[in-house]
Amino acid sequence: MNTTTNAQIAIVTGASRGIGAAVARRLAADGFAVVVNYAASSGEAEALVAELNAAGGRAIAVKADVSSAGDVRRMFEAAEQQLGKVDVLVNNAGVIKPTPLADTSDELYDRAFDTNVRGTFNTLREAARRMNDGGRIVNFSSTTLALNMPGYAIYNATKASVEAFTHVFAKELRGRNITVNAVAPGPVATSLFLDGKTNEQIQHFAKMPPLERLGQPDDIASVVAFLASSQAGWVNGQVLRANGGLA
Ligand code: NDP
Repeated sequence: MNTTTNAQIAIVTGASRGIGAAVARRLAADGFAVVVNYAASSGEAEALVAELNAAGGRAIAVKADVSSAGDVRRMFEAAEQQLGKVDVLVNNAGVIKPTPLADTSDELYDRAFDTNVRGTFNTLREAARRMNDGGRIVNFSSTTLALNMPGYAIYNATKASVEAFTHVFAKELRGRNITVNAVAPGPVATSLFLDGKTNEQIQHFAKMPPLERLGQPDDIASVVAFLASSQAGWVNGQVLRANGGLA
């Protein structure tokens, strides 16, 4: 059944939890029909979709591992069939496991690059073929790229790739009026950041920015919402470091 909507359509990858869930909530509040993508957390994704629909929005949950080109193609097809042609793509899905380079297994390396780099590549390639002209793409980098902390070699390399995609893809979409930007958060209080850290380590990170706190998912969601909006039409090919001044 094709139940297309008049609202603009946004896909948010990795929207079952953390920053992605906050982005989905914010875009729904801003009037977008939202695809809540997830890989494993079906309970969280379905609960979020129920919440957004109960609030008067239009949302669907779509399971797709972004590292699979087939899954990503099927996710765009589900979006088109159930909501309509896509206007906004937020490439939020990502993984991290800080590990010294010398101790990184092949599996850990593959997981990081498959999700963060191949995942972004898969959705960008599909978006180029299928998104509406005039759309918006927001990729996810990280402020860790600027900090060069031990343990972050692999993760930073994946995010450097995402930034390279962002700069070049913005130019490759010339003539389509589609902007391609990235947001690079500092530490944000989600399980990705908090898991495996001691309270002392968390406090250390929280004190690093001059604003002396961790970022919250909503801090990042409001930046994504700006980049996804008509207000950001002249911002293109940029990386916006949303981190409370941490550098
Ligand atoms: P979380 O770990 O809280 O959430 C990650 C989300 O990504 C989940 O919804 C997860 O879904 C999804 N996901 C993971 N792998 C895949 C996959 N292969 N396919 C589809 N979805 C997937 O992370 P955050 O919200 O903290 O991070 C979001 C983004 O922000 C990431 O790109 C991260 O690198 C970046 N970032 C985060 C920072 C932080 O401090 N939190 C700082 C800088 C950047 P499921 O549970 O279903 O697998």
